[in-house]
Amino acid sequence: MKTIRSEQLFESAKKRIPGGVNSPVRAFYAVDRTPRFMDTAKGDRIVDVDGNEYIDYVCSWGPGILGHAHKRVIDKVKEACDKGLTYGAPTEKEVLLANLISELIPSMEVNRLVSSGTEAVMSAIRVARGYTKRDKIIKFRGCYHGHSDSLLVKAGSGAMTTSVPDSAGVPADDTKNTLVAEYNDISSVEALFKENPETIAAVIVEPVAANMGVVLPKPGFLKFLREITKKHGSLLIFDEVITGFRLSLGGAQEYYQIKPDLTTLGKIVGGGMPIGAYGGRRDIMQMISPDGPVYQAGTLSGNPIATTAGIETLKILKEDPEIYKRLEEKTKKLEQAVKEAAGDHVCVNRIGSLMSVFFTKEKVVDYESAVTSDIHQYAKYFGYLLDHNIYTAPSQFEAMFLSDAHTKEDIEMTCKMMGDALCSLEF
Ligand SMILES: *Cc1c(COP(=O)(O)O)cnc(C)c1O
Repeated sequence: MKTIRSEQLFESAKKRIPGGVNSPVRAFYAVDRTPRFMDTAKGDRIVDVDGNEYIDYVCSWGPGILGHAHKRVIDKVKEACDKGLTYGAPTEKEVLLANLISELIPSMEVNRLVSSGTEAVMSAIRVARGYTKRDKIIKFRGCYHGHSDSLLVKAGSGAMTTSVPDSAGVPADDTKNTLVAEYNDISSVEALFKENPETIAAVIVEPVAANMGVVLPKPGFLKFLREITKKHGSLLIFDEVITGFRLSLGGAQEYYQIKPDLTTLGKIVGGGMPIGAYGGRRDIMQMISPDGPVYQAGTLSGNPIATTAGIETLKILKEDPEIYKRLEEKTKKLEQAVKEAAGDHVCVNRIGSLMSVFFTKEKVVDYESAVTSDIHQYAKYFGYLLDHNIYTAPSQFEAMFLSDAHTKEDIEMTCKMMGDALCSLEF
């Protein structure tokens, strides 16, 4: 496989862009390869600058649920472009998208559009604090909520109440109100509520964790979070940036039948353009400026091109809810292929069209079990697939995403390649 142009571009990129990339995981550090610079994409295929074509299971890290360059979305975006790229004034499309979000996710009675998932979460936390007049929040180790200061915390070894920032440049003062509990561990949450009476504004959780690889909530875990937050006058925030419109049309909250107070969206809601959204109960969202005292703003928020892509994507999903059944069936095939080839040498976690193959014999239920994975084995598996034109996440701790554009033939081909990749490894 020729990769000369990608290699040249990566060398140039490294001189002008930190690590050669505009988002770290793209650099392929964890898998010790040169990233492929992409040129075009259509359906389930993505083509790099050397002309190599891959079946794509990254799907831009989730937004691409319809596959790349869906004709209806592209046509609408082109039409919108002719009318100007941004006005900095309200548009009808913002109303349409806000209505559509509330219709599909009824707990989001009132919504605000922003430009990324990071921004959505940061703002949801601010409004939760403003509403409850409390400062502390609980997050879970291994859950990712964007790169804002107060959320870049996973907590040091076992010391769950000392919140050490994950990143240089984040003052410890900025994370002292971020408490970290263990995913799927009810007692760790109970302990934090006990130690911090009447000071916890919110619990934020990825209802299905998908940023430490895919980790499903244990039965009753989300319900427990709903109950304990209610009991203590704290808010429950579902970060559905990945699960929103992916697990089902109504997200994880519909799938598990749990109603959070606030929800954050990103990825699919922009249909491939930069959008984030946060929303929830009317009385909470009324705290936001200009209605209330919680300030939040954005020059390009509700951008007409981005809202066009979002609206069209959500419309297509809404018109054809069978999409979720098709996605599930296809992903199940991949799951079966991996299980047949690797047996209990790996742990496969799958829900709907989200899947991870962990190279560990342990059952992965939280951060601690996730990191028992052999990342060198993953790198070999990834490399084999890449060399055979299958593009998967360049990290053990990211999910595999499927789209409605993945064809039966491409799924079969992928099953075979995944099987071959696993058989090529020594366990
Ligand atoms: C991707 C992601 C974010 C951050 O969204 P960006 O658009 O990358 O800022 C936040 N939360 C979750 C659960 C995510 O997966």
